[in-house]
Amino acid sequence: MSGVDIELVRSSVREFSEKYLRPVAARIDRENIVPDDIIRSVAEMGYFALRVPEEYGGPGLSLLESVVVVEELSRVSSAVGIMATVSGDMVAFPIALYGSEEQKEEYLSRLAKGEIGAFALTEPCCGTDAAAVRTRAVRDGDEYIITGEKVFITNAPYASFFLVAARTGRVEDRHRGVSLFIVDKKPCVEVNKLEMMGYRGSGTSIVKFNDCRVPAENLIGEENSGFKKVMMALNEGRIATAATGLGIMQAALEEALSYAQQRESMGKPIIEHQMVQHMVAEIARLVETSRLMIYKAAEKADERSPDLPYWSSLAKLHAATSGVEAVRLAMQVLGGIGYSKESVVERLYRDIKMIEIGDGTNEVQRMVIVKSLLGKVKAVWPSQ
Ligand SMILES: Cc1cc2nc3c(=O)[nH]c(=O)nc-3n(C[C@H](O)[C@H](O)[C@H](O)COP(=O)(O)OP(=O)(O)OC[C@H]3O[C@@H](n4cnc5c(N)ncnc54)[C@H](O)[C@@H]3O)c2cc1C
Repeated sequence: MSGVDIELVRSSVREFSEKYLRPVAARIDRENIVPDDIIRSVAEMGYFALRVPEEYGGPGLSLLESVVVVEELSRVSSAVGIMATVSGDMVAFPIALYGSEEQKEEYLSRLAKGEIGAFALTEPCCGTDAAAVRTRAVRDGDEYIITGEKVFITNAPYASFFLVAARTGRVEDRHRGVSLFIVDKKPCVEVNKLEMMGYRGSGTSIVKFNDCRVPAENLIGEENSGFKKVMMALNEGRIATAATGLGIMQAALEEALSYAQQRESMGKPIIEHQMVQHMVAEIARLVETSRLMIYKAAEKADERSPDLPYWSSLAKLHAATSGVEAVRLAMQVLGGIGYSKESVVERLYRDIKMIEIGDGTNEVQRMVIVKSLLGKVKAVWPSQ
């Protein structure tokens, strides 16, 4: 895809974000909910179905195009940006890659029509140690009975279905005993929204599956083959999550630059003081290097590179550490007002920390980078 096409995607999403998200972004954060009419507008644009192929009614975007969408949504509302990431990429992508034709017809089409999906991996026992998940799926005739608790699940209150990693093998089998299921939201699925520090409104929740009966055809692929599929979803998802951080730090750059031109100290705008210039230049460096790495990683996904885990983790780690520093510097440029609820930067500062934790912590990204360098981790793509 050419740079011109990317800029076309960017300008259309920017127009949408400024028109629909800008007026409500602070309220979404304050009230920890995205209003229904905004959900409908985002759905109509196809942003909850970014990676759904056109044959199932979706926009059929590449990952590179998707990250530009997510970046632009997050520049105004990180909550909406991460919602699009999870539904449009982390849920849509593994179903498109590994799902049966029936699963694609049913669930990708539903995303394309504006329904929202959630990705349920993390549990109270184990986030980083995802191979230890305890949620159980037990076969009973033509069904599985799913029982267990997930935590920090984005989109859960809005979702009509969940991708769930559940144990079908023994605990000691670790990643070899995990399967991936599609679970519709039904009364047996209990959602309790959490009060998080950032990305407020994206619906981060505890989700309990209370003996949920799921048709056996909702198992994706073979029993006990789910962990690799989860890892592939994370390989892509990390790049899109990093793109939400990119949107946040781009917003921080714009806020710092604008304020530094208006605010005066010692007889001149603070942008004319060399130490403030240094901070603004540093933010710009962190933003642009993150953008380069995220786009490069997305291109690796689009060309189905075996080196995807390496580039995905590098981009996520770089965006996370750069983002935290960039927003810290932006707050420094704004001084006291940046530390107050009057300022957008106060929200950006709370939001950006998530990138160091969600979709694998910085420590996990470092592990993947070194394992990749040692040749121990590669992406294995199914044949097309
Ligand atoms: C806003 C938000 C949204 C989220 N959305 C989702 C979602 O939609 N779906 C989902 O499934 N999950 C989601 N998560 C969960 C997220 O992926 C986990 O929080 C993350 O993977 C870390 O897991 P944990 O919180 O259990 O931390 P832990 O695994 O308990 O880690 C605690 C600390 O120990 C370190 N650590 C742990 N093990 C090791 C090790 N072996 N080596 C070195 N250091 C180690 C970690 O890096 C971290 O610093 C979300 C989290 C947040 C904050």
